[in-house]
Amino acid sequence: MAKSSKSKKPSKKRKTKSTKKGCEETNPIAQAMADASNDGILLIDCNHKVALVNNKLKLWLKWNHINTDSWIGKLDKTVYKHISNITVGSKEINKLFKSVTGTPNLIAQTLNIELKNRTYKYMNVYTSPIFHEVENYLGRLWIFDDRTKEVSVDKMKTEFISIASHQLRTPLSITKGYLAMILGGDAGVLTGPMKEFIESSFTGACRLDEIIEDLLKVSRMEMGKTQPEKHLVSPKEVIDSIVNNYQETAKSKKLTIEENLIFHYSKLKLDDKLLQHAIGNILDNAIKYTPEGKKVFVRAEDFEKKKEKYLHIEIEDQGIGIPPEQKKFIFEKFFRADNVRSEDFSGTGIGLYYVAKIIDALRGKIWFNSELNKGTTFYIQIPE
Ligand code: ADP
Repeated sequence: MAKSSKSKKPSKKRKTKSTKKGCEETNPIAQAMADASNDGILLIDCNHKVALVNNKLKLWLKWNHINTDSWIGKLDKTVYKHISNITVGSKEINKLFKSVTGTPNLIAQTLNIELKNRTYKYMNVYTSPIFHEVENYLGRLWIFDDRTKEVSVDKMKTEFISIASHQLRTPLSITKGYLAMILGGDAGVLTGPMKEFIESSFTGACRLDEIIEDLLKVSRMEMGKTQPEKHLVSPKEVIDSIVNNYQETAKSKKLTIEENLIFHYSKLKLDDKLLQHAIGNILDNAIKYTPEGKKVFVRAEDFEKKKEKYLHIEIEDQGIGIPPEQKKFIFEKFFRADNVRSEDFSGTGIGLYYVAKIIDALRGKIWFNSELNKGTTFYIQIPE
């Protein structure tokens, strides 16, 4: 996955003193404790100079041909430059370094980075200002947590799913083909229970096919094989065509889809295929999880912010809603809430995970509101 960052801004009321008096020498006990850690640790003092580098970080940097022997007392910007030079796609880490270089910056942040080195490759970087008795700024702590094992296990899982799904595809399409032929009468006339059994087998095979297709789409996305391809399209036509694809399904459930589209631009630069997958998935859920006779609303508009054009979409249903305590899991892979499992709705729990990945790839945002037994609204915003 690409990088993710989270920031915590402490209260603006806090006043910091960045005095040289507050800068203490690192004592041997602190150094020994840091050396015992399994994470890489870097400490910058209140004069923006390196106060401590622990053994783990020294070792990782050595693997990248960086000698840290003379680092103590060096300015923060000098060592940040070394780290940035060994980071793949250093844009994000440079941004982070820039925001804290030479300043008693109050922001704590985490960032996933990839190093050019092949042994310790993936790191989660955490940085936080440190204080003595709340007000006295002592410096900045950096913690480098090696995530190489977790990332490679994740990659192996993705590859396994991809290979297994590919292998399942061929025998399944043969099974589906023969079942369709039998149902079509190619093997003679089907009588009562026989027809029923073959029909159930065919429905099962089609369902399995859909699941495999979903798994393949997700693994392609996780392996970075799905890249956005944007071109100028009419946003109205894109949304209209997605809604039209689901009109039949909605009708079979006696549901109506109400559309409200307000577009100022006749064309926007969008990846209509990825949008089709994302919006289609959400609309499919809205229909599936809404009882007969109710309504589903699709609203969309475009707007401009800081000279960038955006597409905003809302899909609202009057369905079963999402249990409050399970809202935080909704975008996780294979997650299905208790209320949909108990009511026997079919599904795999992959759809929203895939949608979130698409929106991420399109540099967009997705969020939702939901009330149990009242309905759910999903919101998507994507830049051009
Ligand atoms: P599924 O195949 O189960 O629909 P998704 O990944 O699309 O999987 O959605 C994950 C879970 O989120 C669903 O199983 C359901 O619990 C919940 N969910 C998604 N959309 C809705 C909705 N419109 N109303 C109620 N619950 C929803």
